Amino acid sequence: MQVLKFGGSSVGSADAISKVVDIVIESIQKEPTIVVVSAMSGVTDQLLMLAQSASQGNEAYKTIIQNIEQKHLDAVRALLPIQAQSATLSMVKQIINELESNCEGLFMLKELSNRMQDKIVSYGELLSSKIIAATFDSKGIKQQWVDSRALIKTNSNYLNAVVDKETTSKNIQSYFAHPDHNQFQLYMAPGFIASDAEGNTTTLGRGGSDYTGAIYAAAVKATALEIWTDVSGMMTADPRMVHNAKEIPQISYQEAMELSHFGAKVIYPPTIQPVMHQNIPVWIKNTFEPTHPGTIIKNESPSDTNFIRGISSIKDICLLSLEGSGMVGIPGFSKRLFDALAKKHINIILITQSSSEHSICVGVNANDAHQSKLAVDAEFEQEINTQKVEPLIVEKEVAILALVGEQMKNHPGVSGKMFGVLGRNGINVRAIAQGSSEKNITAVIASADVKKAINVLHEEFFETSYKQVNVYIAGAGNVGGKLIDQINKQIAYLKKALRLQINIVGIANSKKQLINVEGIDLSNWKEQLAAAPTGTTKEYVATILENNLRNSIFVDVTAHDTVANVYAQLLEKAVSVVACNKIACSSPYENYAKLKSLARAYNASFLFETNVGASLPIIGTLNDLIRSGDSIHKIEAVLSGTLNFVFNNYQGGTDGQSFAQVVRQAQKEGYTEPDPRLDLGGTDVMRKIMILAREAGSKIEMSDIVNEGFLPASCFDGTVEDFYAEMEKQEAHFKKLYDRAAAEGCKLKFVAKFESDGEGKTTAKVGLQHIQPSSDFYHLYGKDNLVLFTSMRYPELPLVIKGAGAGADVTASGVFADIIRAARV
Ligand code: ADP
Ligand code: ASP
Ligand code: MG
Repeated sequence: MQVLKFGGSSVGSADAISKVVDIVIESIQKEPTIVVVSAMSGVTDQLLMLAQSASQGNEAYKTIIQNIEQKHLDAVRALLPIQAQSATLSMVKQIINELESNCEGLFMLKELSNRMQDKIVSYGELLSSKIIAATFDSKGIKQQWVDSRALIKTNSNYLNAVVDKETTSKNIQSYFAHPDHNQFQLYMAPGFIASDAEGNTTTLGRGGSDYTGAIYAAAVKATALEIWTDVSGMMTADPRMVHNAKEIPQISYQEAMELSHFGAKVIYPPTIQPVMHQNIPVWIKNTFEPTHPGTIIKNESPSDTNFIRGISSIKDICLLSLEGSGMVGIPGFSKRLFDALAKKHINIILITQSSSEHSICVGVNANDAHQSKLAVDAEFEQEINTQKVEPLIVEKEVAILALVGEQMKNHPGVSGKMFGVLGRNGINVRAIAQGSSEKNITAVIASADVKKAINVLHEEFFETSYKQVNVYIAGAGNVGGKLIDQINKQIAYLKKALRLQINIVGIANSKKQLINVEGIDLSNWKEQLAAAPTGTTKEYVATILENNLRNSIFVDVTAHDTVANVYAQLLEKAVSVVACNKIACSSPYENYAKLKSLARAYNASFLFETNVGASLPIIGTLNDLIRSGDSIHKIEAVLSGTLNFVFNNYQGGTDGQSFAQVVRQAQKEGYTEPDPRLDLGGTDVMRKIMILAREAGSKIEMSDIVNEGFLPASCFDGTVEDFYAEMEKQEAHFKKLYDRAAAEGCKLKFVAKFESDGEGKTTAKVGLQHIQPSSDFYHLYGKDNLVLFTSMRYPELPLVIKGAGAGADVTASGVFADIIRAARV
């Protein structure tokens, strides 16, 4: 014999039931088959609601009954040929009438006992099993309907009754051995329902039809138990939480039991025990894809290389902690705690005890929080009064995360990897437990972190194909736009070459915010952004924190201080920050240092290569030198693409172009800050040399840098247009600067210089210099930057970095490279 169990969605509609019929017809060709069914999907919930409404005196219960009735009548009409319908329709109506009179009773009494609730809820399985039985009859397939209530005997713990295994097993065996029953090839039985010694209907707990299947299978020593559901087997994680969850072809009873105990809903936890004892293989199969092999659960764990079989989680948990000095060394404390909970039928899901015996901590269902507190505080009342023990501490909104695999005991480092990956993603672990059999490691974390945690763990332990990174961009102007286009072009390559799946999940400009946690379609992001809702930077950050996506990277391609001010908040939640915005790194040293240390503390990246010289590898090189033990003696640099452009193009007016006109051209070509005085006045160069000096280890501030500027003071007054007008007036001044240099055969360059004596004394200055043809700086064209590092390892001839130091395209590519660096940490 074999047992096939079909769940709610497998019998949820006439269409689905037709698929069940086909599967069963094939099965009975091979062997006599017991088919166990759940209620049609949603019906158990509806029945529970019905019982609640009726007992609360709410007339709406009548509508619920009508809906339930309609659903079943529709199924009958769709499944049975017209001439065969009437008997089944009236059977359904009769059952519904019975349900209705029960509800009338509840409505009058205004009271709902657990016993009545079980009675009401049992109609779901009764209806589905009888309709499916009638469907087989109508097809001429002989079947016997078996009343599970008569065979499966339980105690009277309604809603979650405990099965009397011995009696049940005897009942089932003698039923199937009876000559009246033993000649059938097909038996139809309702799942979930049973009865107590008095004959009252009981139920086996939500999801209990799986268990019913196992009980029949064990009693008749079936060749197999097949659990038919809506997924193609047990998966490495809940597919609703992890898009990329993978089917597990084979798993051991122990592993399946652990996974289901810790929340894998695909199989109800008590199901495994009875079949495991008889060594009956269990298949998990998909009714909607019957040819898929599914999962086989059997005695041994497969001897493959997967030492982690799956990850599961239970969301609504509360953590109870009993603490106190009075607990140390006194035997019986934990027993009293467990007894107090057991007396109230409170199920303990997880236990941890610190070795100091100072505290013991258990995880229970969130619904049991209040009862637990009352029960435990009452049990320890005396110790609480004498301050030997603290009143029970209840932590809500926590969840359990479990990593399961029988082979993990042979693989050191699993928990290191697990907690490392959680830590890197800013997920705080509140409690840890590992079974001594080492089949699982469990962690208690905040409920809000569950989805992220499951996904990062899944990526770490199962993802062979790629790592997903979630990018939020702030700033969608010139550089931001180029960045998005560059990423879009590289997505396929990165996935293939680096196994990185870059998902842009947020794009914001100063007004609008486009968010899509599944990844924004980049083909028309501009239109989508234009149509997106408005929002502030604060709201953008709130969304990022609330989404709590794994491997999140915030990219600042703005020049705003409001954006630079949010980095700390993000880094503290392990969100990496990539910035081309210079404001944060050139703010007071204390703030710069704080951001760097937050990034270290929370395992996030804080990268800003494009703060100096666009995408030229300047900061990266400097970091490499320092990390490998070099020390910087001197940095000399031409760091302003703008000033370079201006002094390369200004010919002292000999070509008819005034200094002001050259500056205007630089602005038109996009090489200047919106207010060009930031460039021409030297401030921008000061910021850059300061950032380099800081990265070289100096605690320097803007006020430590000498600025030998060349702009007359009058140029700093008024608006940008006033500035251009004033420059025209001062043309003679600029011409004089040019002529003096030209007379010496020199060019003008705005040079930044930082020097360190190695003993803590440093100097930094920026200013216009006459550059001889023999200098590295002389042959610097267009908007190129040049940096010379003189160091312990490069004492005479400096290390030289040269190339385009401005422009939207190169800046975007530098930001992109930082994103990839952050992603690969
Ligand atoms: P049925 O009604 O057939 O009993 P359930 O809803 O009880 O089905 O269980 C199947 C569901 O379990 C799947 O649709 C899936 O969403 C969920 N599930 C949770 N964890 C897992 C897992 N590890 N593997 C497969 N399914 C899982
Ligand atoms: N119908 C019951 C429930 O929804 C039992 C089951 O489906 O297994 O919990
Ligand atoms: Mg189920």
